[in-house]
Amino acid sequence: MIYIDETEPEEGETETPFEPRKIFVKKGKDIKEEYTLLEELGRGKFGTVYKCSEKETGRILAAKFITTTRADDRKDVEREVDIMRILQHPRLLQLYDAYDDEKKQMCLVLELIEGGELFERVIDDDFVLTEKACSIFMKQICEGVDYMHSQNILHLDMKPENVLCVSKTGNRIKLIDFGFARKYEPNKKMQVLFGTPEFVAPEVVNFERISYGTDMWSVGVICYVLLSGLSPFMGDSDLETMANVTKAAYDFDDESFDQISDEAKDFIAKLLLKERP
Ligand code: ADP
Repeated sequence: MIYIDETEPEEGETETPFEPRKIFVKKGKDIKEEYTLLEELGRGKFGTVYKCSEKETGRILAAKFITTTRADDRKDVEREVDIMRILQHPRLLQLYDAYDDEKKQMCLVLELIEGGELFERVIDDDFVLTEKACSIFMKQICEGVDYMHSQNILHLDMKPENVLCVSKTGNRIKLIDFGFARKYEPNKKMQVLFGTPEFVAPEVVNFERISYGTDMWSVGVICYVLLSGLSPFMGDSDLETMANVTKAAYDFDDESFDQISDEAKDFIAKLLLKERP
C-alpha cells in the first residue's frame, strides 16, 4: 500500500523551478547542441517526452518532441508556446526553452516532473486515495485553473492524465499539456471540437459557446474519478458517453461513495450542472 502524504502545501511554497525566462523559439537549431537527451518519459497524442540535461548548467529537464510536418502543426506548437509564456505559476508546468528544426520537428524544453500521472494513482490499487488526499489534489488543480482563468486562458483538456505528481508519494501536483489551451475572448463566440469525451462539458459535445465553466466541468469529473475510481459519464462507446454528458446523467449510487462526505458530493454536483450561469 502506498499512502499519499496528507499534509497541506505550506504557505510560501510557491516557487517555480527556475527564474522566469524570456523564451523565443530557436529556429533551425538542433536541440542536441545544448542538451543531452536521456530516457523516454511518456507519450501523448502529439508528442514524445524525454528526460534531458542542459549541457551548460547540468540542469535536468524534459524535452517534448512534436512532429510538425503540416504548416498547421507548427502554428499549433507556436500557440502552445505563446500560452506557456504567459502561464508562469507553480501549479502549471513551466516552459524553459523551445526549438524548431524548420523541417519536421519542434521541441519544447520543460520543467521535469517526476512523480508520474495522477491517473496512475487512480487505477493503481496500491495507492490509497483518501478523501483528504483528493481534496489536497483538487485544491491545487483549482489553483492552477484559477490562475489560467485569471489570465483569460482556458485549458480545455483537463483530465487526470494531464495532472502530474511532483513526487511518487507526495501530494504536490502540476497541470500539464497546454496543446488545446486557448485565449478566451468574452466578446467572441468560441466553440471547439476536441477534448476527451469522458471529461468534456456538454457545450463542447453540442458545439456551443465555451467559457471558464467548460474547464470547471472537467474539474468536477476529475474530482468524481479521484474519489471513486469511476468515470461518471462513461458509456460503451464515445457516442454513448457524449449522450450521458449532454444529459448530465450521473449519480453517486456506487458504494465507493458511501464514505464520501456530503461536501465533496456537493462540490461535484455544483460543477456538473447541465445549465450553468
Ligand atoms: P501530448 O500533448 O502529446 O498529449 P503531453 O504533454 O500530455 O503530450 O505528454 C505526454 C506524456 O509525457 C504525459 O502524459 C506525461 O506522462 C509525460 N510528460 C509530459 N511532460 C512531462 C514533464 N514535463 N515531465 C515528465 N513527464 C512529462
